[in-house]
Amino acid sequence: MSTPNLAWYSHELCFWHDPGPGSGYVPVGPGVEPLRQFAVDPDLRRAEGLVKASGVMDRFTGVTPAPASDEDLLLVHVPEHIERIEATSAIGSGDVGVYAHVNYHSAQAARLAVGACVQATTSVLEGRFDRAYCLVRPPGHHAEPDRAMALCLYNNVAIAARAAQRHGVHRVLILDWDVHHGNGIQRAFYQDPDVLYISIHQEGLFPAASGLVMETGAGTGAGSTLNVPLPAGTGHEAYLAVINRIVEPAARAFGPGLILVAAGVDASGHDPMGRMMCTSRTFHALTSMMCRLADELTAGRIVFAHEGGYSAWYQPMLVLGIASAIAGLPAPQDPFLHSLDHLPGQRLQRHQSRVIEHLTAHHPLLAHRPSAVGPRAGADDE
Ligand SMILES: [Zn+2]
Repeated sequence: MSTPNLAWYSHELCFWHDPGPGSGYVPVGPGVEPLRQFAVDPDLRRAEGLVKASGVMDRFTGVTPAPASDEDLLLVHVPEHIERIEATSAIGSGDVGVYAHVNYHSAQAARLAVGACVQATTSVLEGRFDRAYCLVRPPGHHAEPDRAMALCLYNNVAIAARAAQRHGVHRVLILDWDVHHGNGIQRAFYQDPDVLYISIHQEGLFPAASGLVMETGAGTGAGSTLNVPLPAGTGHEAYLAVINRIVEPAARAFGPGLILVAAGVDASGHDPMGRMMCTSRTFHALTSMMCRLADELTAGRIVFAHEGGYSAWYQPMLVLGIASAIAGLPAPQDPFLHSLDHLPGQRLQRHQSRVIEHLTAHHPLLAHRPSAVGPRAGADDE
């Protein structure tokens, strides 16, 4: 693709969602001194600010999404879930699930987050744009059909996948590289043979006992879930090796008509919610690889949606890394890179490689396929 036509979906009201006073991810209570909770979004606004200040935003057409309709939300969620979020948000505060606090603006922000992902997907499918990025809050990948969870209210990317199918796409690949396991996306499609969900996450982090290698789908969906739980401390080379050796061959075997990426940036080496080592260079490389895979498999059709990301100072640079790659530009100059790039965890380690080898030998989409063994890890495909 020579000069891709790019869209950037964001809405001011997504920045107004706020889970309320707390510290980290825990609301104020016994033993919790008020600070602020993560996922309040001066940080995300700053990310958009850096993309603008760098000039990279000039490569994108900015689009203001409309709120998702009930019909969109019901593609994944039950009516009672929607009613609970609307009612609690109207009161102005409360927990609508498990660690899923809202304020007055949250219901509308959540509808706008879904709306952005659905409308970006539709625009890409209709050829108005080649690639799209959705800078949205609240995030979505933990939200289950009937339960909000861990900051996630509606499952933005899962709803976008269903919207793509409503639009006539048969098979959708969802790659989720947020550091946590996307239990909500997995649950939505666990028995669906037409949505391949691949999650790369920190082993055993959150939710507990979720995202295991043996969770590979059920019923007619057997083989359509692919979990890559990497050990804490995993960095640049191992992530690229997972794309080379797991994601690319699995995607080729599956044959999607669209790729969606749940593009959280909390696997960075400066994120307080995970213990991984990724840098802006990693996210730039992962994004470039996925855009190339889309060029090969889906006529270039790919949509990225923000998920987690909790480092106040590093998140903007990570989003800029993703945006630069979508635009086909080199990785940005990163003043924080020197603090992470030299650490030993950036090299592919034997105990990380074993996860890849296990999956290539045993996962139904990868095992016994001559194409299963791609380039050896460590070949930086940036
Ligand atoms: Zn996360």
